[in-house]
Amino acid sequence: MKLDRTLPKETIDRQYDYMRRVKEWNPDGLKAHVLTFGCQQNEADSERIAGMAKEMGYEITDTVADADLIVINTCAVREHAELKALSITGQFKHLKEKKRSLVIAMCGCMVSQEHRRDNIKNSYPYVDFVFGTTRLYTFPEILFNCLLTRKRSFYLDAGDEGNIPEGLPVHRASKFKAWVSIMYGCNNFCTYCVVPFVRGRERSRHKEEIVKEVTALAAEGYREITLLGQNVNSYGKDLYDDYDFADLLSDLCKIEGEFLIRFMTSHPKDASFKLIDVMAANDKIAKAFHLPLQSGSDRVLSVMNRHYTRERYLTLVRYMREKMPDIALSTDIIVGFPGETEEDFEDTLSMLSEVRYDNIYSFIYSKRKGTKAAVMEEQIDDTVKGARFERLLAVQNAINLDKNQKYEGKVETVLVEGYSKTDKSRLTGRSERNRLVHFEGDEALIGSLVKVKILRGDLHALYGELVKN
Ligand code: SAH
Ligand code: SF4
Repeated sequence: MKLDRTLPKETIDRQYDYMRRVKEWNPDGLKAHVLTFGCQQNEADSERIAGMAKEMGYEITDTVADADLIVINTCAVREHAELKALSITGQFKHLKEKKRSLVIAMCGCMVSQEHRRDNIKNSYPYVDFVFGTTRLYTFPEILFNCLLTRKRSFYLDAGDEGNIPEGLPVHRASKFKAWVSIMYGCNNFCTYCVVPFVRGRERSRHKEEIVKEVTALAAEGYREITLLGQNVNSYGKDLYDDYDFADLLSDLCKIEGEFLIRFMTSHPKDASFKLIDVMAANDKIAKAFHLPLQSGSDRVLSVMNRHYTRERYLTLVRYMREKMPDIALSTDIIVGFPGETEEDFEDTLSMLSEVRYDNIYSFIYSKRKGTKAAVMEEQIDDTVKGARFERLLAVQNAINLDKNQKYEGKVETVLVEGYSKTDKSRLTGRSERNRLVHFEGDEALIGSLVKVKILRGDLHALYGELVKN
């Protein structure tokens, strides 16, 4: 059954009403600081939170000590991310002691879990309110009530309750790179993953809304637009009978302007040849594909509930390379999933050599409460996990170095993002194929697309010189 999950306009108008009331209530000159952990979806959510805060009269500040409102947007994908958020939250206690009027709020995936919400409620008394991922749009209402009553509140409400808010204000962190969520939630329940529990079921935005947003961004001069979803390949399944992600990409490519489209994440079980054909046919789509493998062992993939085999995955890779020989491929790998044998792990290593990824994001398996894998027997020992992780990196590092050196002599199109962190005299940016590129150039180039001739490649980056028109 098709289900439209877009919230009625009146629901959003009500929140605008709260935004007006908070603005009237607050004295002038207040500042808000939004701290983000985790993935691009969280970055995008934080831009909405900052947008709402601005609409309520707060100036957005990077300096936490100056803030009158702190919002901590948390991640739950691995334990490490949770512990980091908790530790930083702990450090804000002394800010509250100095400034009693300070409001501290937490949102995002970590606090969308019951046990973490209780944890915050009981052990972090200086946190004023908490709201789950699907309650993001009610932030103004919760803040208003907090300012009025100074009572603490805890809104969980994740899972199936998720609805799609359209028309919220947004404060984008960049003037030339933009996130556009095309769908929310996930239906896949990979056995290691907490995301479906904290972000609810898959729900797609209307294609018209997405086209409208991207058209406006292109008109404003945005050069890179990244479409976001936990599994973009199932875009539209809940909403349309005959319109899918490949159709959406085709429509977005018709929008005028000089910009590149990226997207993430694709699930290999749903990535289609049609999607690959659309990519190959459109210059506006960056020739870079992130296709999480997780494991190279069919046995582990099956226990992970991933619904594809090594062979199906390789078929996709072969088709992509046939259509786009120079496409950059990246992936996610989990090391030390319960029951992973030495042989399973070697299957993962052999996939790295077979596919020769341009980049991998590797993670040591982390037990997540409520997931099936958390209660599986044969959890792998930390030292074994650590040693496998190092071996994986060594294999990929050799591939990265070789690939980066092969760029020497080539000319790459680069979106200039700013000055290099390590060398302030150099500009830095990302190539269409997602390589980090350093070169000398004028500050005025920041935010534009330029051509750079690559002179040298090392393990981490490419170094080159601007090609003058
Ligand atoms: N929806 C995306 C990404 C979800 S989380 C996808 O399906 O690819 C991002 C990555 O974190 C995953 O691809 C996986 O590699 C990793 N991850 C998820 N749960 C994990 C866990 N419990 N332990 C370690 N890594 C995990
Ligand atoms: Fe997690 Fe799997 Fe959904 Fe990705 S597809 S968010 S890994 S459950």
